[in-house]
Amino acid sequence: MSGRVAVITGAGSGIGRETCLTFARKGEKVVVADINEEKGLETTELVKAEGGEAVFVNTDVSKFEEVEALVDQAVETYGSIDIMFNNAGIGKMGHVLSLNIEDYLHVIDVNQHGVAYGIIAAGRKMRDLDIKGVIINSASVFGYLANFGTFPYQASKGAVRMMTQNAALELSQYGIRVVGIAPGSVDTSIIQAYKDAGMTQKMKEQQMRKELIRPEAIANAVYLLTLEEADVINGSVVMLDDGYASFK
Ligand code: NAD
Repeated sequence: MSGRVAVITGAGSGIGRETCLTFARKGEKVVVADINEEKGLETTELVKAEGGEAVFVNTDVSKFEEVEALVDQAVETYGSIDIMFNNAGIGKMGHVLSLNIEDYLHVIDVNQHGVAYGIIAAGRKMRDLDIKGVIINSASVFGYLANFGTFPYQASKGAVRMMTQNAALELSQYGIRVVGIAPGSVDTSIIQAYKDAGMTQKMKEQQMRKELIRPEAIANAVYLLTLEEADVINGSVVMLDDGYASFK
């Protein structure tokens, strides 16, 4: 199944970076997209250093024209777009009533609109080129379970759940599959604010294995979801949470 073209947003760090490395190790070509040029180029070099194929495209997922250009670039460079992983995301801590509205909108712009733009741009391209592709969207256990201090993040991740279901329904006629993932607490820079707030132990205890999830574990699961053998998984948001959502 190797040789597919995978576009991965938010690929300069954490889950996105590990997914690039995992896909490249499986022989896929990787389009590394991030708003942070330095980190995105770093990921690209890491993939190449292992003998993989990768190209970096500087992309702000909250701008539709940039996401469209990203998808165009993937096809121009590698001749296809088989996988779109809408992974880029940000968090913002704060009590719902003391939120700065600009911060709220920023999180929605990146986490919600960014995923919508990825679905629309990649979906159109796959349909037009008759590619039976897979679109994976990053939700979260916080798209299901209320938590303190995460109102905009939870709003955006709840929206990703529903966008995934809707897009799967509408795109299935073109043979395009749309799947969501809901990770638990993964050890990346996005949870740094929680670590700084002294919540590391609590986050560990929320996982069955009592440790933070490694980003490589999420990357492996994302890869599995893109395989033809997984084609029964469509429109679902798959829990990648080491049990987080199964117990309290
Ligand atoms: P991370 O902070 O390590 O990586 C996020 C990446 O997104 C960064 O490289 C950043 O530069 C990039 N980014 C931010 N804004 C962007 C924009 N506008 N356009 C393009 N790129 C942008 O965090 P991560 O944990 O790897 O997060 C990846 C995804 O996983 C996010 O959607 C996040 O919400 C989701 N997630 C993470 C966890 C966790 O515990 N780490 C849990 C559930 C879901």
